[in-house]
Amino acid sequence: MCCLICSSGTTQGRPKFVPFNEELVQTTMEIFTTSYAFRNREFPIGNGKALQFIYSSKQFKTKGGLAAGTATTNVYRSEQFKKTMKAIQSQCCSPDEVIFGPDFRQSLYCHLLCGLICRDEIQFVFSPFAHSTVYAFRTFEQVWEELCDDIRTGVLSSRITVPSIRAALSKLLRPNPELADLIHDKCSGLNNWYGLIPELFPHAKYIYGIMTGSMLPYLEKLRHYAGVLPLLSADYGSSEGWIGANVNPRLPPEFTTFAVLPDIGYFEFIPLTERNKDQQQNKTAATYSYAESEPIGLTQVKIGEEYEIIVTNFAGLYRYRLGDVVKVMGFHNSTPELQFVCRRNLLLSINIDKNTEKDLQLAVEAGGKLLMKKTKVEVIDFTSHVDVSTDPGHYVIFWELSSEASDEVLNECCDCLDRSFVDAGYVSSRKVNAIGALELRVVRRGTFQKILDHYLGLGAAFSQFKTPRCVGQSNPKVLQILCNNVVNNYFSAAFS
Ligand code: AMP
Repeated sequence: MCCLICSSGTTQGRPKFVPFNEELVQTTMEIFTTSYAFRNREFPIGNGKALQFIYSSKQFKTKGGLAAGTATTNVYRSEQFKKTMKAIQSQCCSPDEVIFGPDFRQSLYCHLLCGLICRDEIQFVFSPFAHSTVYAFRTFEQVWEELCDDIRTGVLSSRITVPSIRAALSKLLRPNPELADLIHDKCSGLNNWYGLIPELFPHAKYIYGIMTGSMLPYLEKLRHYAGVLPLLSADYGSSEGWIGANVNPRLPPEFTTFAVLPDIGYFEFIPLTERNKDQQQNKTAATYSYAESEPIGLTQVKIGEEYEIIVTNFAGLYRYRLGDVVKVMGFHNSTPELQFVCRRNLLLSINIDKNTEKDLQLAVEAGGKLLMKKTKVEVIDFTSHVDVSTDPGHYVIFWELSSEASDEVLNECCDCLDRSFVDAGYVSSRKVNAIGALELRVVRRGTFQKILDHYLGLGAAFSQFKTPRCVGQSNPKVLQILCNNVVNNYFSAAFS
C-alpha cells in the first residue's frame, strides 16, 4: 500500500499531503504495543472491550490517481490494526459500520449506544485526542434519554439514517428495560455529571488518549467526567510518523513524557534557545522566540534543552521539520524522553510581541479560572485573532461559554486575559499603546461546532481534529463563522 495522507492541519489551518505506506502501519503497531506494555504493567485490564471514539473520514483519489485520506483512517482500515488491537485487548465495542460511517454524529451516537449495551465489559475509554472524548460526553448529556429509550425498546432512534449502521446495530440492540432503568437512575443521580464515565462503565480502569499540548485545555472537563478514574496520556506522533511512547503512564498528563522509539524513523533535533524569556515574570509563561543552530542526533540531546524535531521516515519524508517544540526531560535507557512544549509557529504577533499557542493557552486558563470562580460558567472552546484593521492593532480572543455570564465578570476576564500575556514585547507595547486593548468576543453556543463542521466538510477526520488556536486572514471562512456569531465584546482597560 502506498498512498497520501492528509494531516489535520487544524493547528495552522492548512492540511498537508504526506506520503504513507505499509511500513508506517508497522511503526504505528510498534508504538501501540510498546506503550500498551508499559500501560498494562501499571494498569492491567481484563478481557473485555474498549469504548473507542474512533471515526474514519472519506477517502478520495488525488489528480495523479493515488488514494488519499487521513492517517487514522488508513490505520483503522488496515487488517494489521485489527489484529494488533485484538492482541492488546483493545477491541472496539462498536462494529466497523459505526467506525466507518459517513456521518460522525451518527457514529458518535452509536459508539455511546454500543458502549452502554456492553457496559460491564468496557475496560477503558479511548479517543485519539482528548477533545473527542469530552465532545462525546457533552453529547451524551444531550442524548442520554434517547439512548435509554433505544435500549428500553430495542429500537434504534430515527436520528440514525445510514442503512449499514442501522443494520449493524439491529444485530446488537434488544429490548432491555432493566439496563435502561439502571442507566436512567445513574444519570439522574449525578451532580452536574461529575464521575459520569465510571458510573456508566463500572469496570473501566482508565481514560486514554492524547491529552498533552493543545489538548490540555480539555483536561479539566475530562477529569470532571472521569471522577476517580485515572487519565492516561497517549503517545506522541503525527501524520508524518510516530515519535515516542508514553512509558511512564502513571504521570499525570501535565507531566507526560515520550520515549523516542529510535527505530521507527530517523530523528534529528534543532537546538533552540529562548531569546525572549521575561525574567521578571512567571517563568512558565516565557515566550518562544527562538535562536536556532545546526541539527544534532538523537544521542546528542541534553536534558533540560528544547529542540525542534526533524523527521526522516520510511515513507520517503527526508529531514522534514515537524514544527513542534519539545524539551528533553531525561532518558529511558539511552533514548531521550521528550515533553511536548508547543507548536513552533508564532501565533500572535503585531510588532515586537511574540506569543505562542502555549502563551495563549496559559492566558485563557487564567481568564477561564476567574470566570469559573465568579460564575461557575466554563469556557467550552477558544481561539484568537490578530486584528490589524484597527490602529493600533490588537489581540482578539473568542470564547464560547457553557452559559451566560454578566458583563461585569466578562470585563474582568478580559482584563485578566490581557494581563496574562507576560511576554516583554507585548507588555511594553501595551504600555505605550503600540498594541491596543485586548478584545474578548463571546460567541454563540455552537459556534465551534460550526468550525468543526467546516473542517469535516473539507475532508478532515473528527478523530484528528484540533481547534485552530489562531485564525488569520488566510482562513477567511473560519474567521467569518466566528465574527458572524459574536454576541458580545469587551475591551481590556489601559495598562498603568
Ligand atoms: P496531525 O495533523 O493530526 O497529524 O497532528 C500532528 C500534530 O499533533 C503534531 O505535530 C503535534 O503538534 C500534535 N500532537 C500529536 N501527538 C501529540 C501529543 N502526544 N502531545 C501533544 N501534541 C501532539
